[in-house]
This record gives sequence, C-alpha cells and structure tokens, in this order.
Amino acid sequence: MRIITRTTPSVDTENWQNTLATAFRHSDDLLAYLELPQNNPMAHQQAAKSFPLLVPKPFADLMEKGNANDPLLRQVMTHPEETRHIEGFVTDPLDEQQSNVQPGIIHKYQGRVLLIAATGCAVNCRYCFRRHFAYQDNQIGRKHWQDALSYVRNDRTIHEVILSGGDPLLLNDHLLSDLLDHIESIPHIKRVRIHTRLPVVIPARLTSALVTRLGQSPLQCSMVLHVNHANELSQELQQGLQQLHQQGIILLNQSVLLRGINDQLIHLSELSELLFEFRVIPYYLHLLDPVQGAHHFHVEEQEAIALHRQLLANLPGYLVPKLVREVPGKANKSPIDLDL
Ligand code: SF4
Repeated sequence: MRIITRTTPSVDTENWQNTLATAFRHSDDLLAYLELPQNNPMAHQQAAKSFPLLVPKPFADLMEKGNANDPLLRQVMTHPEETRHIEGFVTDPLDEQQSNVQPGIIHKYQGRVLLIAATGCAVNCRYCFRRHFAYQDNQIGRKHWQDALSYVRNDRTIHEVILSGGDPLLLNDHLLSDLLDHIESIPHIKRVRIHTRLPVVIPARLTSALVTRLGQSPLQCSMVLHVNHANELSQELQQGLQQLHQQGIILLNQSVLLRGINDQLIHLSELSELLFEFRVIPYYLHLLDPVQGAHHFHVEEQEAIALHRQLLANLPGYLVPKLVREVPGKANKSPIDLDL
C-alpha cells in the first residue's frame, strides 16, 4: 500500500490563527497557487455567494499542483453545479431546525446533545450538510454558554456533550478550556466528544496546551475527525494525533462517500489503513446528505453498498467503517442494509 507522509511546510506551528487568517478565500488565488488555469470565474463567484470558498494553505499544500481533479481540491473548490437546483436536494436535509431546541443546542439523539461551540469552520467543504444552516441564530458565545449548558444540566438523561459547529476547535485553547470546565462541572455528564476537521486542514491546531487539557479532563474524551481521502493525512497531523493518543484520547474518523473523490475501493482501503497507522479508528462512512448545491457528489445507494461489500472482503472488520445515512427524525444513524 502507498503510504503518504507529506509534510506541510507552510504551517506556522506557533500560531494556527495566523494560518487561518491567511487562508485562500478566492478561487482565482487558489487556482493560481496550484498552477491551474481560471475556468469560468463568474460561475465560481456565483457558487461562492451563498457559501464562500475557504481553504487554509497547509491543506492546499497537500494538493497536487497542476491537477484540476485532485481529490482534496475537488472537496473545497467552488463548482458551477452548486447553483443548479435539483429536486430532492434541500437546504436542511436533516431537518435540524426541528431539533435545534434552543440557540446553540441540537438535541436529536437519546443521551447526548450537540453543542454548537463555534459557528464557522477553517475550511468550507462544498458537500457540507450544514452549508445553509442558520448559524446566525446559534451564536451563543461565552456569555451565553450558561444558557445552553443549563439545558444540559436540567436533563439528567444526557450523558455526553458533543462539541460541534462549525468547528469547535476554532475556539482558542483558553476559551475551550473554560467551556470544558463548565461541562465537567455537570454531574451526569460522563463523556465529551469533539467533532472537528480543523487539525486536518491546519495540523498546528493540535497545540500542546490543547492536548494537555484534553488529557487532563476527568471525562472520557474522544475526538472525531473528518477525513475523506488518504492524501489529507500529513506527517504533522500524525505527530499531533500521536500526542492525543498518548493522552488517552479516543480517536475516530467519519467520512462522506463522495463522487470522484473516494468512490473507489482503493481510496477507501488506503484511507482506512493509513488512519489506523495514525491511531484513528474508521468509524462512519456516510452517504451524502442531499443538501442543495452538492448533488454532483452524490453516489447511488446500490453503488455504495457494493463498495462497502468490497471493503469488508478486503480489510479486517475493525478497519471497515459503518455505512450509514442520517434520516431526519430517526433516533439514530441508519445503517445501510447490506442484504438489500
Ligand atoms: S468542516 Fe465540517 S462543518 Fe465545516 S464545512 Fe466542512 S463538513 Fe461542514
């Protein structure tokens, strides 16, 4: 198997926030950096109007220059198809407004709640199911943490808080530590989970202060990364994950099955193998949520099932992520029936 251990030379290891501040925000700048020609700039600008382009340089450094079909570039580059309205692809495919019980809190599943700790991301993935989410109504900020956490405090059936967003690691180490203090003070909370893609696109985000703080938490602490392709796994990320692993943090990964990016056996096998080498367990492989603007990433369910069967036949079971879809209103993620 091909092991990809690329370095990310442009990372400022001292200040991940500077790296984020200088991220690419225009398609023409990103294309020029990757030595690619401009193609239909008006269509790209149109696509960026509702969901801007945002790509940190360390992530761009993992892309192959001159390759317009690079699997990392395709995840983050605006596309003319985004502005086409396709039946069945909607702005809130998971009907999250129904479970957005109060600002900053999404309560969908028994025993756990999702806290929107930050309302932005370090990268804008074009297939994101929250690309139209009403973040403006969920900006809780530090002043309103107590309001959101009082919901958690008042429901003793909740045992796990999932920090999500946006990306919760957009909070700086100090703020995140304060938020963890509040969560840790709630007696019935046993676990905290962080859903993040930030360390993948800016590995320097895994600062030693963050790693130490998570390791010191009295709660069981897990981090769920979002990686779709083995090329996203850099050497610097591996170092950060190694440190988290040494602190006892459980590392999991969820991917989305994406047309033209990871829809071949070789892609998913390489990803699982390399994740494991990085101490990360492949956890979920999601079918694309039918969000408006992302129809060109869609993989048919039967094709997904066939691919998943191939994975099962080729890898040990612990390296095969569960193939799931999220169905609005259901009490859990729905495993895709392999016997169909
Ligand atoms: S990092 Fe996650 S929440 Fe943010 S745009 Fe990408 S998929 Fe969406």
